Amino acid sequence: MEKKTKYQKLAEKILMKKESAWLMLRKNEEKKVFSFAESYKDFLNKSKTELEAVETIRKIAESYGFKEYPKSKVKYYLINRGKNIALVKKGESIEKGVNIAISHLDSPRLDLKPHPLYEDSDIALFKTHYYGGIKKYHWVSSQLALHGIVIRKDGKKIHVKIGDSKKDPVFTIADLLPHLDKKQEEKPMKEAIEAEQLNIIVGNMPVNDKKIDEKIKLNIMKILNEKYGITEEDFVTAELHAVPVAEARDLGFDKSMVISYGQDDKSSTYAALLAFLEAKAKKTLIFLGVDKEEIGSEGPTGMKSSFIEEVIRTLTKQDPRLLLSRSKVLSCDVDAAVNPTFKDVHDTLNANYLGRGPVVAMYTGYGGKYSASDAGAEYTYKLISILRKHKIPWQSGELGKVDEGGGGTIAKYVAKYNCDVIDFGPPVLGMHGPMEVASKIDVYYTYKGIKAFYEEME
Ligand code: MN
Ligand code: MN
Repeated sequence: MEKKTKYQKLAEKILMKKESAWLMLRKNEEKKVFSFAESYKDFLNKSKTELEAVETIRKIAESYGFKEYPKSKVKYYLINRGKNIALVKKGESIEKGVNIAISHLDSPRLDLKPHPLYEDSDIALFKTHYYGGIKKYHWVSSQLALHGIVIRKDGKKIHVKIGDSKKDPVFTIADLLPHLDKKQEEKPMKEAIEAEQLNIIVGNMPVNDKKIDEKIKLNIMKILNEKYGITEEDFVTAELHAVPVAEARDLGFDKSMVISYGQDDKSSTYAALLAFLEAKAKKTLIFLGVDKEEIGSEGPTGMKSSFIEEVIRTLTKQDPRLLLSRSKVLSCDVDAAVNPTFKDVHDTLNANYLGRGPVVAMYTGYGGKYSASDAGAEYTYKLISILRKHKIPWQSGELGKVDEGGGGTIAKYVAKYNCDVIDFGPPVLGMHGPMEVASKIDVYYTYKGIKAFYEEME
């Protein structure tokens, strides 16, 4: 072996190594990464909406012996309106606060309007209102499923999930043909497909009755009435979401990545959930899955709600804010990975790369660190030392160039409790697109990292 030079040795000692986590895999660990990804894909397929995610999490938690509070006061869960779930594992004492990992369960999609159904040009369609930050042109010319609930006049809640099974029909938004899109092509991308053009095709067959004006619309309503017992007015008391049909799949010849809808933030959710269920700690541990992050964490099921205080009240008779202020929080959410095709939006020295492990983000926000919850050096150090100790690869880049744009997480809404909170999660490509890309190794080490946080954070 060739002898290392003085400066080679020095460089090894004092410069930071940035390399693919795949190169750091220990023996037998590659198998674990790939088998973890199998159950991860299964979780994604079962959890396209927050309602479904809560249900999936509840079932998994129950299989680990968790019961709904107060049936158990040691290993229990609390569900808020079906869209927000907390799991609690009671430890020896709460003197030093509790360790909490939080992720969001909602993902960008198209929601049906209160009066969605209409007929135009011999086609029946649904009007939609997009949910979260989408690029509207992504949602045309693809297969869509409908997921959600309808509360009928008689008060019965109907669960709708149509489009995922091969036996089901699917839905679509037809784009303009290139032969006639001269004007559309000249528009800025943001306007090429407008919100009011996100109309979903749902039928073409009329009822045969000259006395009816909108024959195709009536036929669709007739089918829905026969299948679900609903009437047109029941759309007002419904939450129906159009989501991509496609299932989570392996991506690449090497099958190293996963392509799927909803990896923001169900990658962190699955990682945090498994970490929570497997972690063994003296401290009390909480996993929290929240809703509405994509629209600003609003509403009773979002992070701005006081549900977290109700969860804490199951542990202490004191003001829950006191315990929260002593607690340590991981805001588990995805970050952006460098897309080699669009590299120029990143400061590549301070960017995140697919396959280099989960991202530790001291702050998010916009230019000038506006709207960021700055974790600070001390808490960042605490997390990174735990990762170092467990040989968990990590990286720490910013979302993009300073004045290029930005984004936030739930971190700042937890920070109001005067607790330490930092962002942690896998980098993804194509964030908020109907199909997002994550590297299997990043999701795996997010899980390992959160588990180490649960077990070791003082
Ligand atoms: Mn997110
Ligand atoms: Mn998001």
